[in-house]
Amino acid sequence: MDASSETIADALLGWYGRHARPLPWRSPPGSPPPDPYRVWLSEVMLQQTTTAAVGPYFRRFIERWPTVEALAAAEDAELMSAWAGLGYYARARNLLACARAVAAAGGAFPAEEAELRKLPGLGAYTAAAVSAIAFGRRAVVVDANVERVVARLFAIGEPLPAARAAIRAAAETITPNERAGDFAQAMMDLGATICTPRAPRCMLCPLSGECAAFRADEAERYPVKAAKRAKPLRRGRAYWIERDGAVWLVRRRPSGMLGGMRALPDDGWSARGDGSGELPLAGQWRETGVVQHGFTHFGLELHVAVLDGDGARAVTLSEGEWWPVNAIEEAGLPTLFAKAARAVLAHRA
Ligand code: SF4
Repeated sequence: MDASSETIADALLGWYGRHARPLPWRSPPGSPPPDPYRVWLSEVMLQQTTTAAVGPYFRRFIERWPTVEALAAAEDAELMSAWAGLGYYARARNLLACARAVAAAGGAFPAEEAELRKLPGLGAYTAAAVSAIAFGRRAVVVDANVERVVARLFAIGEPLPAARAAIRAAAETITPNERAGDFAQAMMDLGATICTPRAPRCMLCPLSGECAAFRADEAERYPVKAAKRAKPLRRGRAYWIERDGAVWLVRRRPSGMLGGMRALPDDGWSARGDGSGELPLAGQWRETGVVQHGFTHFGLELHVAVLDGDGARAVTLSEGEWWPVNAIEEAGLPTLFAKAARAVLAHRA
């Protein structure tokens, strides 16, 4: 590390000592690292999700499954229901696969990034974060917050995503050998609270003296982003089949979009994407609402159709369950289908 890299690390760690966010999965600055299980669980939950949204889920998971062995013993369906609402459901499937792999190997997470990366669902970021935060190993941890701070500190003008290599190389130069876990969390906190995407609070920033973007009065210009392409829009249909105060729910196939989750039956929009699937039952269907939902790579317009009259009374359905309508909030539906259910019930009120 050269003098200015050391200045950056020292200034940031000093700031972190005073301003660290108290989060349920953390140890206070300068204290021994937290349980690797908690670090790993929180990092998986935090991918694409805010700390505010993750907090209650994290607490519930730790209460219900206090160790990696306990989580490994959970039923798939039980875990998917507990995850419902957090989104990006492949993470939940990988979470279980990873917990089982760690439990089968004796219950201890490995400390090295390379070993962590062999576990299901642990990409470069999560492996680096667990290695640094839970084991104090020197690892270069670059999430979206860190990416923004580093792009500004070094005024990296290349647009994302091509700039990632340069950002990583620059992050490498400022990562200290000691307290790498605190340093990683300090960068995340700085990005979340001071060096925010809009209107960064440079006057309060411990790194302003070293920041190239601040010196040029161009903080918001970085990171430079490539022009966005509009997301494609898919259309689909979900079906509400109800009788005797209960609605028919299915379990989605284990792989694919929202895999393994409880759901309303639908027309296969996730595979076909054109809403052309067939109605599951003959009868009088009534279009009751439209739900808009954003996935990572496409937007979805989901039309909700309700089977009218006695249509649902006569049918025999397989591979699913009748779920009490007045307890629909407890079905663990992913957000898309929870919205569809609310659309039906709002229409009725
Ligand atoms: Fe971000 Fe401003 Fe601090 Fe630079 S000085 S790191 S732009 S908050």
